[in-house]
Amino acid sequence: MTRTIAVVGAGVAGIGVADTCRDEAAEVTLFDKARGISGRAATRRKNGCRYDHGANYIKPGGDDWVEGLLDELGNDGLADIELPVWTHDADGEIAEGRAGDGPKWTYTRGITQFAKRVRKRAGVSVHTETRIESIARTSGGEWTLTDTDGETYGPFDELVLTPPAPQTADLLAAMDWDDERLRRLHTAVDAVEFRTIRSVLLHYPFELDRPWYALVNPDREHPVGWLSREECKPDHVPDGESLLVAQMAPDWSVEHYDEPLDAAGDAVASLVAALLDDDRLTEPDWVDDQGWRYALPDSNIDAEEARCAEDVGLYVAGDWVAGEGRVHRAFENGRTVGERITGEE
Ligand SMILES: Cc1cc2nc3c(=O)[nH]c(=O)nc-3n(C[C@H](O)[C@H](O)[C@H](O)COP(=O)(O)OP(=O)(O)OC[C@H]3O[C@@H](n4cnc5c(N)ncnc54)[C@H](O)[C@@H]3O)c2cc1C
Repeated sequence: MTRTIAVVGAGVAGIGVADTCRDEAAEVTLFDKARGISGRAATRRKNGCRYDHGANYIKPGGDDWVEGLLDELGNDGLADIELPVWTHDADGEIAEGRAGDGPKWTYTRGITQFAKRVRKRAGVSVHTETRIESIARTSGGEWTLTDTDGETYGPFDELVLTPPAPQTADLLAAMDWDDERLRRLHTAVDAVEFRTIRSVLLHYPFELDRPWYALVNPDREHPVGWLSREECKPDHVPDGESLLVAQMAPDWSVEHYDEPLDAAGDAVASLVAALLDDDRLTEPDWVDDQGWRYALPDSNIDAEEARCAEDVGLYVAGDWVAGEGRVHRAFENGRTVGERITGEE
């Protein structure tokens, strides 16, 4: 009989679960509250520009497996950002850094292409704009999911939760299942900390000539945590224009999280103009933003506790389970969980 698997979250971890189950006698259904798939590896289009406003690029894994996977998915439109990442410190001093950082991959059509291509080869169905609100365990030991419109899905044999830890903790807290394993899992998930990042996009109708693709602030003392030039990615920004992606430091982001975009854009443009010592940058011709309340994990879940309910078909996956806020690590973690479900591991 075909086993049924529900995956909450169609970010790269959820897509990774589906990828491993594609040749198995398993039917995977993904649910995501967003309009599209790919989660925090996100791309947006506006005013003729295309930009990755969450994850900037995909890094190589340890032993070339990422490169091999990208090859399998097709190299058309795959782009390696050639210019390097430099650093800036608390005083705004810019320095060359991160020598030998390796390839930085995205796609001409945006980083979401990665999840889209994996989804296509997995042939998996995704319920988008479907926010799962509650989960119950049936007397027969299966899982049912109910969304915010009151629609119920299932029953499913296995359930994988992939939202960032605080959102997964909320789902576990609301779960209708009286069991010690649920309490243990909830406690472990609830202990994982995430940091907040507000990304602010600044567009200019002129080119910027710099020897770097991005600046990162390793001492974490500058309000601009990361600043990158989206025009360094082929086909993202028309010639003669610049689009800066400023990922603001966690303290700044929490303090300014709900500030209207006009005011936040002015504040970020002033900080960026000072950092790059270029007064023109105080006046972008348009701005955009994205608040990532749960941007990156600051701690990981205890590995043993993460697996304490797997014997009854309840799994967790994601960057916070993998131990690093990286696209390839989240995807790899989803695949590992998928392999445990299908018995390949
Ligand atoms: C600003 C920023 C910059 C980054 N830069 C990089 C980078 O350059 N390189 C890199 O490798 N990584 C980077 N990362 C990290 C990378 O984006 C993540 O590690 C990775 O995308 C996590 O994937 P995931 O599937 O674990 O989680 P997510 O992508 O968060 O996926 C979880 C999904 O669950 C959905 N969801 C949540 N709750 C519910 C619910 N109740 N019902 C239904 N769906 C739900 C969400 O909509 C989401 O799609 C960055 C992240 C951010 C935010």
